[in-house]
Amino acid sequence: MSVTNELNPNVKILMGPGPSDVHPLVLKAMATPLIGHLDPQFIEIMDNVMEMLRKLFRTKNQLTFAVSATGSAGMETCFANLLEPGDEALVCVHGVFGNRMSDIVERCGAKLIRLDAPWGEPIDPSAVKKALESCNPKLVAIVHAETSTGVRQPLEDISQITHDAGALFLVDTVTSLGGIDVRVDDWEIDAVYSGTQKCISAPPGLSPVSFSPAAVEVMEKRKTKVQSWYLDLSMVRKYWAGAKRAYHHTAPISMMYALHEALRLVLEEGLEARFARHKRNHELLRDGLENMGFEYIPAPEFCLPMLNAVKIPHGFDDAEVRGRLLDEYNIEIGGGLGDFAGKAWRIGLMGCSSTLNHVNMLLSALRHIMKK
Ligand SMILES: *Cc1c(COP(=O)(O)O)cnc(C)c1O
Repeated sequence: MSVTNELNPNVKILMGPGPSDVHPLVLKAMATPLIGHLDPQFIEIMDNVMEMLRKLFRTKNQLTFAVSATGSAGMETCFANLLEPGDEALVCVHGVFGNRMSDIVERCGAKLIRLDAPWGEPIDPSAVKKALESCNPKLVAIVHAETSTGVRQPLEDISQITHDAGALFLVDTVTSLGGIDVRVDDWEIDAVYSGTQKCISAPPGLSPVSFSPAAVEVMEKRKTKVQSWYLDLSMVRKYWAGAKRAYHHTAPISMMYALHEALRLVLEEGLEARFARHKRNHELLRDGLENMGFEYIPAPEFCLPMLNAVKIPHGFDDAEVRGRLLDEYNIEIGGGLGDFAGKAWRIGLMGCSSTLNHVNMLLSALRHIMKK
């Protein structure tokens, strides 16, 4: 592709850990002519996005909106606004994204306490309980859907244990939101962030977040300024929800159009129907892969439907198979991260990429490539 040619990459079938395939209506929404970020019609679009996000997160939280950057910025927003230098934070780590949380906690000047579980397994609530006997953190953080390992982390018991210890409960739902149930109010989650390019099936670029009244109170009682200007919610909030909507930064207008349309499609399908679709296609893929001799990394009860982490069968080269999938079939799947580099494949069935056709295309391509 030279710079003088029109930008025209091949159409790919996105079955990695994100981004996922985007619905044509979302792409069309992105081509809507721009309006100003303070135009009353744009404010209405933002209000609609907040309302739809509350439905998706299943929350009444007033402070529910989308940070203007990808999921990692949502992660950073949560920690940077809730932690002050010298605070303690307990981070549960069972994959790459728990590690990333730990890094951010330290950058906030807070004291990090780590609770590690082996990669491929969830965190055991009793281990959280035990850890909380010897520390007094301001918050406990955990990843709901560990995209690096394919593990679904049950949250309810850990939420209870966290609140019993008087801490806030912070959860990463980047990969889970829109693919499996996320119940912010029922599970008493105080701070939660997600991303647009996984099960919501919009392009990457915004990070939905929501904060409980208890989390908002903690932010309002800060003694120090949030170290990040861009992510400081005391200012960002005024743009999203202030009585008079004031300029903070120029909102990514086209991305907001995309998220608006993607959320509309999610709610039009219905949450229960959407979760059932993700489960059904996961089971079909699982049957097909297991018939070919693949083994899943997590135990069946902890497998995520939207992120299938499997061991690379003996005798096959990671880069070669994934390269052929991409070159010959235009199919992208993900390689292993961290501990699993070169040892695992991560197959995404997220949002618009969770269809019967996606499952069948991948299985037939793999059968062809891996035929001995
Ligand atoms: C993808 C992902 C992130 C990071 O999101 P980006 O959009 O890549 O910044 C964080 N947490 C989890 C669990 C993810 O899967």
